Amino acid sequence: MNDCIFCKIIKGEIPSKKVYEDDSVCAFHDINPNAPVHVLVVPKTHIPSMNAVDESNIDAVSKVLLAIPKVASTLGLSNGYRVINNCGEDGGQTVPHIHFHILGGRKLSVKLN
Ligand code: AMP
Ligand code: ZN
Repeated sequence: MNDCIFCKIIKGEIPSKKVYEDDSVCAFHDINPNAPVHVLVVPKTHIPSMNAVDESNIDAVSKVLLAIPKVASTLGLSNGYRVINNCGEDGGQTVPHIHFHILGGRKLSVKLN
């Protein structure tokens, strides 16, 4: 957990462009954006992936979901946006700290793979 890149971003140990923060949630610009707006929303507690969500951490995850529309509003995504969670190797997850991508700023392709 100590070498988790998103935990380090949350603690301010490595730089990021934060767009939202509260007691439970942090959101920052993706370093390699796939859309005009590409932000990652994460819980401040380390949860490795969607597969690790359970009754013990669902409050932290729900706070992330509650933050997403606020973050989207802050980013000016009034015409809509996409939320993506990648889970595990086949899902394309590369950072093992659960995160939700917010993508927007243009009409997105419907392609899902
Ligand atoms: P995923 O592939 O779903 O695990 O998404 C991980 C995302 O984290 C990718 O879109 C990366 O571009 C992004 N990422 C990796 N390192 C950083 C970083 N230091 N700051 C911001 N975003 C990052
Ligand atoms: Zn972490």
